[in-house]
Amino acid sequence: MASPRADPPNAYRLLPSIDEALRDPALAAGAKRVPRELFARFVAQALEELRAEIKSGRLDALALEKHLAAGALAKAVEARILREDGAGLRRCVNATGVVLNTGLGRAPVHPEVAEAMAEAARSYCVLEVDRWTNERNQRDDRLAELLARMFGVESAIVVNNNAGAVLLLFQTFAGGKEAIVSRGELVEIGGSFRVPSVMERANAQLVEVGTTNRTRIADYAGAIGPNTGLLVKVHTSNFRVEGFTEEVGAAELAALGRERGVTSAFDLGSGLVEGSGMCSIEELLGGEPLVRAAVASGVDVVTFSGDKLLGAPQAGILVGARSAIAALRKNPIYRALRLDKVGIAGLEKTLELVLAGRGDEIPVRRMLRASAAELEPRAKAIAQRIAAIPGLDAAVVPGASQPGSGSAPGVTLPTFCVRVVHAKLSAGGLATALRAAQVPVFGRVQEGALLLDPRTLLPGDEEDLLAAFVPVSGAD
Ligand SMILES: *Cc1c(COP(=O)(O)O)cnc(C)c1O
Repeated sequence: MASPRADPPNAYRLLPSIDEALRDPALAAGAKRVPRELFARFVAQALEELRAEIKSGRLDALALEKHLAAGALAKAVEARILREDGAGLRRCVNATGVVLNTGLGRAPVHPEVAEAMAEAARSYCVLEVDRWTNERNQRDDRLAELLARMFGVESAIVVNNNAGAVLLLFQTFAGGKEAIVSRGELVEIGGSFRVPSVMERANAQLVEVGTTNRTRIADYAGAIGPNTGLLVKVHTSNFRVEGFTEEVGAAELAALGRERGVTSAFDLGSGLVEGSGMCSIEELLGGEPLVRAAVASGVDVVTFSGDKLLGAPQAGILVGARSAIAALRKNPIYRALRLDKVGIAGLEKTLELVLAGRGDEIPVRRMLRASAAELEPRAKAIAQRIAAIPGLDAAVVPGASQPGSGSAPGVTLPTFCVRVVHAKLSAGGLATALRAAQVPVFGRVQEGALLLDPRTLLPGDEEDLLAAFVPVSGAD
């Protein structure tokens, strides 16, 4: 081998072959815990890693010999087995204070909703058949009925997520045609959802009107032509333009659409519904628009997510005029976007809770409404228990939680956080250790400290949060 480096030539020869390694008694315990082929792959990867270290010059023969004698290979394989055991989707504790945390699955549903979803998953269910007549029907007939009662709309249709709803909307009304959108509303949401890209894939031609900060109704009116299929307003969920601005209201857009015979739509995104309690989430969220208000504007279709402020499972909901919804349903693309039985079960149950006046029991809504005064004693109780663990120090500090998922940009909710400091580990190191726990815990690292926000904890989370600190207890 022609190596340009002066590596000790015999370092590679110290490495066992894969077969030798597989027979190594030090590795035998691990071999029983994963399928044989996977174990062999882990061993090969661990050996490859050592080879790379020799090649880079980080390990010479002497160092490698010590390393191997100290059980480096077994440890590297063990680490891979542990990762395998802990890989994939699992429950975690959200102590980030970001209520709709997309990385952590957005909205945790109400326990009764979770129950309905589990039952639909494990059994047969009345999905697309009328149990009274035994005739086939639409899987979202009941959902459409509940949505109609809730928002006073004529009709509704439900798909997999709001990105799907927007795709279906553009494809149905502006596929092969033009859609008029304000330049100030050509937003990107969550990195992978850009209104212009979705329109392009829906085969809709984008006609941009106005400027980034100002768009007037005359701009839309002037852009309407024989090939215009849709007038759209997009709620700029994750940012706010301030200063010299002017935007066209949904009501104006709806009126223009009616006058010129063009379908109008409002992509609302967050999907806020009124509460039954004393404290209005709408006000807490700085005037975030309500679905009901968007509907009342008179646009033909309003679209929003199930798993944002509504606090339901992932879904895309389209509500509005009967004829517009019928057109959406006739589009063959709908078949590819429709919601599955588990999602339907969860969404139906969530809407039933809201209609029964129990909307404020929905976890997301409860979290958003929690006041700093309610959260302080919870933060104190957690801090006290963490401070009692050797090697850890914890204090309660004022902080700010976020609605998240682009809902209510710029709005923060006052909270109290637990600020945790470890005797030896850095804040980042501590955060990593907590994510590696049996039930992973996610906090927020800020100004060199780990912050845990009780706002986003669910009942029972405290115990798992505390358990995550056990492996890092002790000052060493
Ligand atoms: C979040 C959002 C979407 C995308 O919705 P998903 O449910 O994430 O698919 C689209 N439009 C707006 C305005 C949004 O806020």
